[in-house]
Amino acid sequence: MTSIAQPPAAKAGPKPTTDRVNHWINGRHVAGSSGRSGPVYNPATGELAREVDFASVEEVDAAVAAAKAAFPAWRATSLSRRTEILYRIRNLVEEHRAEIAAHLTREHGKVPSDALGEVARGLENLEFATGIPHLLKGGFSEQVSTGIDVYQIRQPIGVAAGITPFNFPAMVPMWMFGNAIACGNAFVLKPSEKDPSASVYLGELLKEAGVPDGVFNVVQGDRVAVDRILEHPDIAAVSFVGSTPVARHIYETGTKNGKRVQALGGAKNHMVVLPDADIEMAADAAVSAAYGSAGERCMAISVIVAVGEVADPLVDAIERRLPKIKVGPGTDGESEMGPLITREHRDKVASYLESGPAQGATLRVDGRKHVLFHEDKGFFLGLSLLDNVTPEMECYRNEIFGPVLEIVRVPTYDDAMQVIEDNPYANGTAIYTRDGGAARQFQFDVNVGMVGINVPIPVPVAYYSFGGWKASLFGDLHMYGPEGVQFYTRAKVVTSRWPDPATSKVDLGFPRTR
Ligand code: NAD
Repeated sequence: MTSIAQPPAAKAGPKPTTDRVNHWINGRHVAGSSGRSGPVYNPATGELAREVDFASVEEVDAAVAAAKAAFPAWRATSLSRRTEILYRIRNLVEEHRAEIAAHLTREHGKVPSDALGEVARGLENLEFATGIPHLLKGGFSEQVSTGIDVYQIRQPIGVAAGITPFNFPAMVPMWMFGNAIACGNAFVLKPSEKDPSASVYLGELLKEAGVPDGVFNVVQGDRVAVDRILEHPDIAAVSFVGSTPVARHIYETGTKNGKRVQALGGAKNHMVVLPDADIEMAADAAVSAAYGSAGERCMAISVIVAVGEVADPLVDAIERRLPKIKVGPGTDGESEMGPLITREHRDKVASYLESGPAQGATLRVDGRKHVLFHEDKGFFLGLSLLDNVTPEMECYRNEIFGPVLEIVRVPTYDDAMQVIEDNPYANGTAIYTRDGGAARQFQFDVNVGMVGINVPIPVPVAYYSFGGWKASLFGDLHMYGPEGVQFYTRAKVVTSRWPDPATSKVDLGFPRTR
């Protein structure tokens, strides 16, 4: 019989306070005891808003021990009971979506409409997970040999961990934990240290919904926590979303340690606009998809590949729209685009407005001219547009992850395809055209995981799965949806015969079905 670790006792330490973000272990707030912490800023003011505890190896171990201890009873909990709890989680998240969104606006900086959109897309995943009785149905083959049946069941893997990025502090955890716990696993989340509060708030909601203590845990922190997760012998699977270099490290280290890993990385998403496209519609889509959430979306359109004569009118139409977008803090109801996550990141993004033109690009709109960039109170940068970008330029080769849209001009559809093919990333892409045949050919040809046809941000709905190709995903299975259920379960195949003394005999031959 396997020994089961006891849930950890709460650490004696400073009492949890509202200006310090703690861990959530075994159904309660646990103040950090590592002596390490990090700053959480309000990006709209630039002020230090809170501190977040950084977990030590021992604190990660405590969370994993709580999860391991909770797992046997949770996996034995009936499907109908787990479904009931999933329904309650779904309802509580919907009921408290404004509070979750407020955490996102405060710590990430995204404006309320965008924050509420994030919660809505996360909610879809929880709704999907309420279908778990159907999703876990196995297969059954009757009478494969005389009196013998074979059936397949899917069982949970044990303790799964999720490591998530700053840009979707609520949705990406919901991509993971809904399916993970619905399948009967226990879960340990390591959210981004830049905007950690939503994760703990979700922990409180899950407890209120009836999730048993230890089934969902949050450890705050940095690389120390991540590296412990990657080597912990009691963690069976790791889901990761973040930048490509870290995704590669997670995949290589996690799999080397025998874990199942899905690691989603960065992106450079191209939108191809063909000469027959509706220019105004394409320009609306380009602006929405490039600058929403200040460009800090892994599915943001960051490059327009303008084919032939469409380039001039399209770039003019995009440029005309930019001054009308209101940049400001999420507390201002009129703001459409908020700040970037940190000053350091904002300055890195702004540096491409220097290097791009130095390498031959045309800076059509310079976000550094925005008044909020000059005031330098929050981490703001205005909308920026770089034209005549070529694939050799630094601004093209890097994932900028900010409100900078680049235009690459090419003569033909084939040239556009080559630009996409040569790029190491392959998360999402889109084509704008009125030609159904061209769109269908694009869908057939393009080596990218998620494709939009006159849809700029083709994030799959929750009953499909999300994942890029090439350097945008390491691992076999995509995130959430049916592949998420597959990731968080493993198959067991049972071959069964009921006792029949009349046909029983010794036979040393290899079992045959005929
Ligand atoms: P990041 O890679 O810096 O961090 C992601 C997570 O990894 C965080 O929890 C962080 O604490 C941890 N981490 C960071 N550096 C680490 C290290 N050296 N070792 C171990 N762990 C480390 O990413 P980010 O800046 O938080 O998020 C933005 C990135 O995420 C962008 O590249 C974006 O494209 C990508 N992203 C991808 C998707 C997708 O679905 N493919 C979705 C959202 C974001």
